[in-house]
Amino acid sequence: MTESQQPQYDAVVIGAGVAGIYQIYRLQELGMSATVLEAADGPGGTWYWNRYPGARFDSESYTYGYSFSKELLAEWDWSEHFAGQAETLRYLNHVVDKFDLRQHMQFGCKVKAATFDEDGSFWRVRLEDGREFTGRFLLTAIGMLSAATLPRIPGRDSFEGDAWHTYYWPHEPVELAGKRVAVIGTGATGVQVISEIADKVGELTVFQRRPNWCAPLHNDEIDPTDLADIKSSYDEIFEICRRNAGGFLHSPDPRKMRDVPREERLDLWEKIYAARGFSVWMGNFIDVGINPEANAEYSEFIADKIRSRVHDPVTAERLIPKDHGFGTRRVPLETRYYEAYNRENVRLIDINETPIERITPTGLTTSEQDYEFDLIIYATGFDAITGAFDRINMTGSGGVALREKWAESPDTLLGMQTSGFPNLLMLSGPQGGSVSTNYPRGIETAVDWISDLLGYMRDHGYRRIEANAEAESAWRQHVQEMYQFQLMSKVKSWFTGYNSNVDGHGKHDHQRYMIYPGGAPRYRERLEEVAANGYEGFTLS
Ligand code: NAP
Repeated sequence: MTESQQPQYDAVVIGAGVAGIYQIYRLQELGMSATVLEAADGPGGTWYWNRYPGARFDSESYTYGYSFSKELLAEWDWSEHFAGQAETLRYLNHVVDKFDLRQHMQFGCKVKAATFDEDGSFWRVRLEDGREFTGRFLLTAIGMLSAATLPRIPGRDSFEGDAWHTYYWPHEPVELAGKRVAVIGTGATGVQVISEIADKVGELTVFQRRPNWCAPLHNDEIDPTDLADIKSSYDEIFEICRRNAGGFLHSPDPRKMRDVPREERLDLWEKIYAARGFSVWMGNFIDVGINPEANAEYSEFIADKIRSRVHDPVTAERLIPKDHGFGTRRVPLETRYYEAYNRENVRLIDINETPIERITPTGLTTSEQDYEFDLIIYATGFDAITGAFDRINMTGSGGVALREKWAESPDTLLGMQTSGFPNLLMLSGPQGGSVSTNYPRGIETAVDWISDLLGYMRDHGYRRIEANAEAESAWRQHVQEMYQFQLMSKVKSWFTGYNSNVDGHGKHDHQRYMIYPGGAPRYRERLEEVAANGYEGFTLS
């Protein structure tokens, strides 16, 4: 190999969020030369960007932090059970500084293209500003919900007031008092924004396409006694998360709903509705996510909760999903969300009844009337998981574009690699386990597995790894089978690759298997097996 064919780095990591931070830590530990390229001017990823009012965890803070350093766990004091964005960003910066990782990160580096150099078996990564970096391995830590999408409404750019997608909320404080504000979108983000700003703005108009099943977060401050308890039980907390399908603290009731008398069902449901976090979703009877009858009965229980919290019955009915059952899409957790609609200054517009026709310089027009706004907030979601890849022009062996390869189906082996793209390792790849769990829990698994793989390759003198097409197709088949068990597989959401604002992602709704829905323990087991068998399914050379 000539001098010019040697890459600059052993590894180039794209993204300095939760995944990129831990990955560069492990690469340093391995003694590999590596750099992280990050578009923002600081680390944090999701928590750097999403500064919209109300942005916070709905995983318990102490299940979201990294578990790899006891010292870090002991010294970091979470202030709330579900920390807000500012605290989480502070935490991630603290981790970066504590482990001296900033020196390995380059900010303001927006990656435009990545091309596999077949002759040298390495990746060339080109930035928007023209700079180029080369690395033996390309590790994508680009996030699963980082490609924000705007609705394609005529006249969108004509609006003369302020308008932002929640992901790009300004870093400076935004004056909301007295403002006439529109929110478009009622997913987990919209629900947080609406709840937070309802009593701070002049008027709030919410444009809803499909309602979601929301339930109370029950956030609280962590007092010193609780904090001491948490710190002394981290081993136990992480062990529970490890055994849990979603990497959370909330385990299902092992009984089937129909085996339990109605009164006892209601007892459990009242209990989980009143409990913190995702208990309301994950602490349920084991069959509620797979048995339509059980799901319908639980959904009706939640519908009654909504009816009891919203004063106007017509508004309450509009807020109750009719097209999908509880938990078949991501459940937004909320703090006084439904109560926001009892306020005089808040109104809910169902855009199925009165569609938005266009955005105008002063507001927007529906089929029924003109509205005037000072601010339009787009809480319209993301081109999930594959969107971040699609925004980079990625080319593998033989000039194949990743975008093309994944157009019909984003197939991977274990979410870690995709055939035809040697030495590309994905930390939050489609059909992987990190995209279907409490994110840092899944990310630690992915980073550890990839780091062990890189150590193994170095020790055995390998320079190239590629997923085999047959193994990839078997994995896709397995992922597909796991989907079939779940009611969520029939519902349009980002779990099923649906996004009406992206070409083709509306029609592929049930064909795009985006996440690994078989649960974290099963996924980890498979990863361990593959590694123990010398990385079967991959070709190392
Ligand atoms: P989302 O769940 O995809 O919701 C987007 C919303 O915008 C939906 O209500 C959607 O309606 C609506 N929408 C999209 N395009 C539209 C259009 N053209 N016209 C009208 N309405 C439109 O996105 P998100 O709320 O940003 O949440 C995405 C994910 O981020 C969540 O599922 C969650 O995993 C994560 N998240 C987590 C937290 C947390 O940890 N606390 C907070 C926020 C987000 P339809 O439903 O009809 O498509």
